[in-house]
Amino acid sequence: MSLRIGVDLGGSKIELLALDGHGQERYRKRVPTPRGDYGATVKTVTALVGECEEALGSKGTVGLGIPGAMSLATGRIKNANSTCLIGRPFKQDLEAALGREVRMANDANCFALSEATDGAGRGARVVFGVILGTGVGGGIVVDGRVLTGPNAIAGEWGHNPLPLPREADLPLPACYCGRQACIEAYLSGPALARDAGAGIGAPEIVARAAQGDARCEAALGRYEERLARALAAVINVLDPDAIVLGGGLSNIDRLYENVPRLWLPYVFSDLVSTPLARHVHGDSSGVRGAAWLWNG
Ligand SMILES: [Zn+2]
Repeated sequence: MSLRIGVDLGGSKIELLALDGHGQERYRKRVPTPRGDYGATVKTVTALVGECEEALGSKGTVGLGIPGAMSLATGRIKNANSTCLIGRPFKQDLEAALGREVRMANDANCFALSEATDGAGRGARVVFGVILGTGVGGGIVVDGRVLTGPNAIAGEWGHNPLPLPREADLPLPACYCGRQACIEAYLSGPALARDAGAGIGAPEIVARAAQGDARCEAALGRYEERLARALAAVINVLDPDAIVLGGGLSNIDRLYENVPRLWLPYVFSDLVSTPLARHVHGDSSGVRGAAWLWNG
């Protein structure tokens, strides 16, 4: 039996999932992330893998989803939200602790891989996976493999500038990354909440808009239009067979009807048949994708 172990390293929890050769779940465990403690993070992941293999009586491959990317220049972690990982040789340290090769990818790439393998993008050759949550990220999967690129940033769409800013998009917001008018600065959960201006989160904004609240309706309308502009640029460059949305804001049902209508004027084609799909695996996509890193 080929056992694939996926580990999703998040800011607040570390989750492990083991899949058998048929993609069936065999083991799952979730523990809190040792915050700000790098050594304890390495130990926790190692212990989780050990427990899982002992419980199943079998060794597996290990894939890891991290909130950041590995620098190809240094082999160290960059762009991570879990700041204790930044600049650390996390892959090498884990490989030494586990005694085997470990594959690693950022969480958006794991999401895209999970949905492309046996989720909403199943059967599609090229899948663009998008996370719309506290942050905004993207990942590209081609023929079942994550596309990384020479800079390890393929699919990092959230820190492109929003195309064609208009009156309502001004003043251009600053992004934590140091750039201006990043897509993330418009399309993250906190950005939507700020735009609605009512101190409420996305589910409440959607509920109020449905009840006729003009302010929430206007904010959602702007959100959909911005998402359409941002995704049209992806379609023009990559022309993926499917775009799959994940993250908390992907639960806004109306996106799937409105955004493909709104992106038409920005896509350089008379016919746009790109499906915009909602994730299938939800919160499990990160950890499933990490396991699927050993797909071939
Ligand atoms: Zn940015």
